[in-house]
Amino acid sequence: MLDLTQVGNYRADLLLTIDNLGVEYKLDGQVLRLRKRIEMIDIDALQLSLVQRGLKTTCQYRLETKSTNLDVIALFDQKAITSVATCEKQTHGKGRRGNHWVSPFGQNIYCTVGILKSIKPANLGLLSIVTGLAISKALDNFGYKAVKLKWPNDLYHQGKKLGGILIESRPVKDDEYFLAIGFGINVDMSNEALAAIEPAATCLNLMGSKLLTRNQILLETVSQVLKDIAAFSDKSISQLVRAFDEIDAFKGMSVKVLSSGKTITGINAGIAQTGQLQLETEQGMMLFSAADISLRHA
Ligand code: ATP
Repeated sequence: MLDLTQVGNYRADLLLTIDNLGVEYKLDGQVLRLRKRIEMIDIDALQLSLVQRGLKTTCQYRLETKSTNLDVIALFDQKAITSVATCEKQTHGKGRRGNHWVSPFGQNIYCTVGILKSIKPANLGLLSIVTGLAISKALDNFGYKAVKLKWPNDLYHQGKKLGGILIESRPVKDDEYFLAIGFGINVDMSNEALAAIEPAATCLNLMGSKLLTRNQILLETVSQVLKDIAAFSDKSISQLVRAFDEIDAFKGMSVKVLSSGKTITGINAGIAQTGQLQLETEQGMMLFSAADISLRHA
């Protein structure tokens, strides 16, 4: 609640700024009330908690940014090797192949972790699964049960999309990459905002009681992603494939694969050790790489 008589000549500027950010409010005479309480991200607390967990990072927070993936890449250019960028709103939130990630102000988590990683190029595609499993584990530890993964990069709950992952990589030297590991998790969106997203979307606050605040969710997911990406090696692939199999949102289902204008239907037979999708078709088993296709219910 804000008494606008207190801001004098800045009234119009203030209202314009709030409008531009997309914050919902109503005016009762000279009193401005937010439609919903917003818990702002506390970046200093995040940085401190990460240090206390042995995860030293450069943390950056903006009210509004184009994309947190771009922010982390800019931080790397300024020599920040391990970093976290987060914000209240993304104006150009990125999905795969130029898709847009809906990122309204103050309602969700928009975050990118920047990290250097030694990894074979053939295994880079597995990292979105490592990240998805890390986020699902962090949420599960705090009561958000049954978060599943849709290959290769989406978080699902009861058939609806809860979040997405977008990893961008930059080669640094042989078998070493700088990774911008971006993820968005819907936390507290209005039914109206969710209904505007296709395919159907959901958010954590529709999954039961409010167990964690946005700051806590950020801390737990960032910590787990940093740890699990650092720990991933060629030797952990079989274990990763088994773990994915347990929470594969489309496992055993009749699905269609959309690939450069073609649609191929079959049964989703999980992922291979390469991270490729296995599709059981009438012509036999087919393998697909993440970059080439979209997966949908048949
Ligand atoms: P595809 O399978 O076609 O590659 P995808 O399901 O992997 O797509 P992404 O590119 O990862 O999708 O994410 C972008 C898509 O996610 C958008 O096209 C839209 O359908 C959906 N989307 C965008 N914002 C949100 C959000 N906040 N919550 C849930 N879904 C969203």
